[in-house]
Amino acid sequence: MKKKIISTILIIGMLASLLGGCGGWNEVSLGTETVENVGVSTETDNYKYEQELNIIDDNYRNYYEIFVYSFYDTDGDGIGDINGVTEKLDYIKDMGFNGIWLMPIMPSTTYHKYDVVDYCNIDKQYGTLEDFKNLLKEAHARGIRVTIDFVMNHSSSQNPWFLDACSYLKTLGENEEPDASVCPYVDYYHFSRQGKDGYKIVTGTNWYYEAWFDYIMPDLNWESDALKEEFKKIADFWIDLGVDGFRMDAAMHFEENDVDFNTEVLNWFYNYCLSKNPDFYMVSEVWSDKSTIANYYASLTPSMFNFSVCGAEGPIIKAARSGKSASKFVDAMIDYQNTYSVKNPDFIDAPFLSNHDQVRVANSMPGNTNSLKMAAGLLLTMNGSPFVYYGEEIGMMSTGQKDENKRLPMVWSKTDLNGMTNGPFNSDKEFESVKLGVDEQEQDPDSLLNFYKRALRIRNENPEIARGTVEKINSLCNGSQAAITKTYEGSVIGIVYNTSLEEAISVDLTGTALEGMDIRGYLSTTGAEVTIDEQILDMPAGTICILK
Ligand code: CA
Repeated sequence: MKKKIISTILIIGMLASLLGGCGGWNEVSLGTETVENVGVSTETDNYKYEQELNIIDDNYRNYYEIFVYSFYDTDGDGIGDINGVTEKLDYIKDMGFNGIWLMPIMPSTTYHKYDVVDYCNIDKQYGTLEDFKNLLKEAHARGIRVTIDFVMNHSSSQNPWFLDACSYLKTLGENEEPDASVCPYVDYYHFSRQGKDGYKIVTGTNWYYEAWFDYIMPDLNWESDALKEEFKKIADFWIDLGVDGFRMDAAMHFEENDVDFNTEVLNWFYNYCLSKNPDFYMVSEVWSDKSTIANYYASLTPSMFNFSVCGAEGPIIKAARSGKSASKFVDAMIDYQNTYSVKNPDFIDAPFLSNHDQVRVANSMPGNTNSLKMAAGLLLTMNGSPFVYYGEEIGMMSTGQKDENKRLPMVWSKTDLNGMTNGPFNSDKEFESVKLGVDEQEQDPDSLLNFYKRALRIRNENPEIARGTVEKINSLCNGSQAAITKTYEGSVIGIVYNTSLEEAISVDLTGTALEGMDIRGYLSTTGAEVTIDEQILDMPAGTICILK
């Protein structure tokens, strides 16, 4: 019922932009015009703080991580494809994302494609290079930058480099050493006559090769100058096509856990990419603790995924789930700022809730949409470039620990199966990852999806959120309540959090850094309104308020 009425309202174009966190339509004020009694008697969307967008065209972006295989299928084979991403660019833009990270798209032997057979092409399951060029064109036309997964720790064992090297090794006599002038590819990998930790045997020989992740993923040798030249050409290929950034897979493994060596490789490669495109972006996977991540910022590359903030034990989910640790969340924000900036003053944090290798965030708070909204609100008020994993915006869950079940089909609709993918071969097809699809959530102003949309909108209205220097307002921080300022190029905003999903708070701004500020926008998990009167900010349970 509610859904139907809201749909009718949506047709009234003037009102469409007002739709957001909460329902109800007794009276909606539109400047001098007033629309009365549209027909819903339950709740009221009193949100009246929509601001002009103020999107700066730099590398601070709102990223959406896409597993192409499970996203959207345009040719009916049940496998998502490049054209499917293109078809959903309007959705992505409409949500407020202005960057996408595509998990690997290059030809590969596996469904996940983290073992690359050919570094300069598109996997046939996903489409063609022409499809990809079209995606780039359409993304750029919408102000969306495209970052692709770049797997240079290892190749596929079916990569011609590896196959050639192994064939060559088979021709060598017992005491004969490999000669790179005969077969250059022997230098691309770590071959050894001794079996050791992390090494696998080259079938039919007495040689071994390094392969920490899997025997089908031989580790590349980053001491090789020939390999570096090879990867310069690969970077040329993608950057010349128009790719805007690389997501560096497994960066702490180039040389197993050798920080100095790996940061040098990252620095060299980033500088090469910058020489091709001064705006080039790079974000690296260093799946480790905060101090190790900080050490990798010494590479002077822009971003490291913030593995310290994600997951069930991270400060976001802890605060969202318990409702109690807003203050600790703010402390964590300041800690990242201090710890990472020491190594790279220009760092752009890359926080996220979960990714394709992790149990989905919704599993931490099953069935609790308001906690999920709060988690989204905390993430999307953090500095840097937040990454949202496809399906998080509708509350999709994963099942068990198997990777395939963390990469289930995006649920566009429960009724219209057009474009629905089958998901990975070994995934659990019976598992219901979410109750409501995108189409249903789009129609419901109270949905998780619309909460994400408003949070991203507020981020796009206020560049201070991503870029501002954070300062904690100690006198307003206690348990479920916390307050900060963010200052960017002389412009100061305040953010006040009430993470409690049970208790409202009244915050007296008098005598604080927020005194005299007005509401600039807010996020409300229940739709209840945030108001301000005479320096008293009234925040219902589960709200985040932006002040300026
Ligand atoms: Ca397909």
